[in-house]
Amino acid sequence: MQRSDAENARRASRGQSRKVQSDASQTRRNTSPDMSAPLLLIVEDELAIQELIVFVCEAEGFRTTRAGSIAEARSALAAERPDLILLDRMLPDRPGEEWLRELRSDAKTADVPVIILTARGNESDRVAGLDAGADDYVVKPFSPRELVARVKVVLARTMPKTQEGGESFVF
Ligand code: CA
Repeated sequence: MQRSDAENARRASRGQSRKVQSDASQTRRNTSPDMSAPLLLIVEDELAIQELIVFVCEAEGFRTTRAGSIAEARSALAAERPDLILLDRMLPDRPGEEWLRELRSDAKTADVPVIILTARGNESDRVAGLDAGADDYVVKPFSPRELVARVKVVLARTMPKTQEGGESFVF
């Protein structure tokens, strides 16, 4: 009788420890796939274009945060570090590439990938963004598919492949 009680206790204790382990793995599996998706900061003052970018990027499974000026972009960056910034050149407070130079000269933000959005098509305007440290640029008007494709290429180059949650977000 006593032996059987002890056996039951051992079984119960084993069962309990198994349960704790399975709860822990359950917690890891339940991590929201949304929160593991790359975060894009979209800095664009033209609302229609901002909405379009947000729409196509969220449809591709990205998380987005938006800003209509450099001042708003600074706050957004401070709130949560994005995995990539889509940065318009022509903004109400300051030129996009000016802020980009600042990001590149600060050790904390030097490696945040940036794609410049430029309305102009001439060479010196395209080169201005790259000179300031952009990873790529997109000339407006752009096709949403091209924009998303460029975002994915830059992220594939810059995001660690073994990052936790990477499995749930396949490029
Ligand atoms: Ca603009």
